[in-house]
Amino acid sequence: MSDTGGGHRASAEALQAAFEMEYPGCIDVQIVDLWTEHGGWPFNQFVPSYQMMARNPPIWKLFWEYGKFPLTRKLTEIGSDLRCQNSFRRCIEAANPDLVISVHPLCQYIPLRAMKKMGGGRRKIPFVTVVTDLGGAHPTWFHPDTDKCFVPSEVLRETALTQGLRPEQIKLHGLPTRPGFWKPVTQDKASLQVQLGLQPGVKACLVVGGGDGVGGIGPIAKALIKKMGEAGGYQQLVVVCGKNEAVKEQLAAIAPPLGVYVKVLGFVKNMDEWMGAVDVIVTKAGPGTIAEATIRGLPIMLSAYLPGQEEGNIPYVVEGGYGAFSQNPAVIADTVTAWLTDDAMLSAMAANARLAARPHATTAIARDIGKMVYAPDSPPTVQEALREVERQQKLQK
Ligand code: UDP
Repeated sequence: MSDTGGGHRASAEALQAAFEMEYPGCIDVQIVDLWTEHGGWPFNQFVPSYQMMARNPPIWKLFWEYGKFPLTRKLTEIGSDLRCQNSFRRCIEAANPDLVISVHPLCQYIPLRAMKKMGGGRRKIPFVTVVTDLGGAHPTWFHPDTDKCFVPSEVLRETALTQGLRPEQIKLHGLPTRPGFWKPVTQDKASLQVQLGLQPGVKACLVVGGGDGVGGIGPIAKALIKKMGEAGGYQQLVVVCGKNEAVKEQLAAIAPPLGVYVKVLGFVKNMDEWMGAVDVIVTKAGPGTIAEATIRGLPIMLSAYLPGQEEGNIPYVVEGGYGAFSQNPAVIADTVTAWLTDDAMLSAMAANARLAARPHATTAIARDIGKMVYAPDSPPTVQEALREVERQQKLQK
């Protein structure tokens, strides 16, 4: 994977947790940001470049089209292959894996070539792609040489087929989410609100902009604070700024009007709890956040999207009957406050969101991948499990 945005690492960690649940102590997972840690310059600069482009959608659009247009795509593949294939191969050889999983659109072409070389012209290690986009995906996700390609939606199954994958290579379960989203909920909303320092029983809106806190969350939060103040009564707003320190500082300095409670946070590790403590979410059209919000039954106000990559997520949500889209902070604030004051509307949208949720996707994917490592219907042997226990004991000593 690569840490472009927060979604790819979140998906990788989700799978790691699901392996641990399905095959306790038997599957050792290493998560590697292949491009940053092993890419040659300029390919090791994807993460800061992505952060810059995510803040400038027109530039992102150019990059997206550049990677899609056959000639420029081929040129980039040749260049990155020359600069990175050997170091990617060394990384994979050092890990000596039984199977490789890609959760990133740019981790098919070169790893597959490197692994082919490792096998002397024939790849011996199984390779799996887990697509972490939702309503649309870049063609680089779909490589005909992958052994299995897990897609999260019917739309992407179709895309995989049009990109040349065979039906038997494709499996649809849903998007991987972290354990907090697939383990049973043990706390109700009011007690979660108390635990998180919110006002229990007061209607709450969560604003997020992916792992990097993009999508104009600053102006949106300001418009919401203003509108909530005008509406009177009590309402609360939680803004998760992710890695965007500048917007966090800016928002923390605002004195909210009477009756409006505001909490400004940086990067949080307990998103499952924050989503469980609110009534609606405002987010850019990030696939991870959308999948998580559906599991929590949250109506979703989409506020921005990355052209190409996240465009398809808008009809996915709006046509599902559990969200709306606008890039105008005033319209967003009006829509969200209208939802928060209409219980019937809130519960109808929440029900639609839950219909779209796939909370069991992660464990289903982990189980299917496990069957590729261990022979079908044959879970890890007792000897393997015992060896792992011994290894863990040695590590603890
Ligand atoms: N996220 C998080 N803490 C934060 C902000 C975001 O754990 O403070 C997670 C969020 O729950 C989601 C992921 O980061 O799982 C963001 O993924 P998404 O696909 O929505 O957007 P990306 O950041 O990848 O563009």
